[in-house]
Amino acid sequence: MTPSYAEEALAYYKQKENEETVKKAKLEPCPFCGGEARILIYRGCGEALYSVACTDPRCIASEGRKYLDVTDAVKAWNRRD
Ligand SMILES: [Zn+2]
Repeated sequence: MTPSYAEEALAYYKQKENEETVKKAKLEPCPFCGGEARILIYRGCGEALYSVACTDPRCIASEGRKYLDVTDAVKAWNRRD
C-alpha cells in the first residue's frame, strides 16, 4: 500500500517533532550506574525508533526499549521504567 500524501506529511512532521525533542530532552542520569544517558535513534526502512540508554557499554541499561515516539522513550527513562 502506498501511503497517501497526508500520511507522508504527518510522518515527516512527526519526525521533525521527534528531532526537536531529541535536542531539548532532559535526561535523568542512569539509575544503575549514575552515568550519562543518551537518546539512540534506530533508522530502518520504516519509521525511526527511539530509545534512551546509558552511555556506558558495560552497564545493563546500555540498551533500552525502543519507542516510536521519542517523548515516550524519554518519559519511560525518567520514570525508571
Ligand atoms: Zn548505566
